[in-house]
Amino acid sequence: MGKIKKQFKYWFLGAMLLLTVFVWYAVYAETRDGLLVAFLDVGQGDAIFIEAPNGNQLLLDAGPNNAVLRELSKLMPFYDRSVDMIIESHPDKDHIAGFIEVARRYDIGLAMEPGVKSHSAVYGELNKVVAENSPRRIPKVLARRGMRINMGDGARVDILLPDRDVSDLETNTASIVAKLVYGNTSFMLTGDSPRAMEKYLVSLSGPAADGLKSDVLKVGHHGSRTSTSEIFLGAVSPEYAIISAGAGNRYGHPHKETVDLLNRFEIPVLNTINLGTIKIKSDGEKLTVETEK
Ligand SMILES: [Zn+2]
Repeated sequence: MGKIKKQFKYWFLGAMLLLTVFVWYAVYAETRDGLLVAFLDVGQGDAIFIEAPNGNQLLLDAGPNNAVLRELSKLMPFYDRSVDMIIESHPDKDHIAGFIEVARRYDIGLAMEPGVKSHSAVYGELNKVVAENSPRRIPKVLARRGMRINMGDGARVDILLPDRDVSDLETNTASIVAKLVYGNTSFMLTGDSPRAMEKYLVSLSGPAADGLKSDVLKVGHHGSRTSTSEIFLGAVSPEYAIISAGAGNRYGHPHKETVDLLNRFEIPVLNTINLGTIKIKSDGEKLTVETEK
């Protein structure tokens, strides 16, 4: 065997070994022991990254700017350039502006939104990116009550609101409200849905409103007093309340009334202002909370 041939053989074996290591790293990195739900530290806004046990990924809102890219890169391996689905809870900037760069940089399988009219520049730009994102345009569906997103391995997202055409509603009122379920654990994800819609949801769910009970509540509208009615909080009756807001925000979120109510219900409050990104893992039975700070 000539020298060149021999060298090639070692080079080839080395490359194969590297490839094997890489493949196993990829398998390891993309195999989770359960569900991951991360409330990303994006300042004043919402961005929630959900990864099913089988690796399927969903991004519900993307915050007010590109901070979401930094947070995603901490949670996703560098070679993972796709997100299976995005959901725009409603078209306000603090929920969707981050999607513009996400849609440019990641291959997105499907987008969902409530279908409320918005004339904001950021919504227009996002729609343009979604429509033109290469190599293919991202299909868009309207969220309606009764829809179920099956993420695989028993993880699912049930759409609770809107239950009708919301094109002419105020944007917060049109917010998608969804419940994420994995095994015996669940998360109530509320966008900026106001009190009136919370009460409507309780009435839709029947007298006991058992279907609303969730282990984790993403507190509506960054802890604004315009959300988190007592009747809704009672129906959801969470073990943890998550507030996604930015330090020193001009709205004064979270409002004292909301925090007082959560305290009165003795619900531990986790706030991205103090804790940074909040990761909650579920094995289907119990939750584990990890924070950055
Ligand atoms: Zn908001």
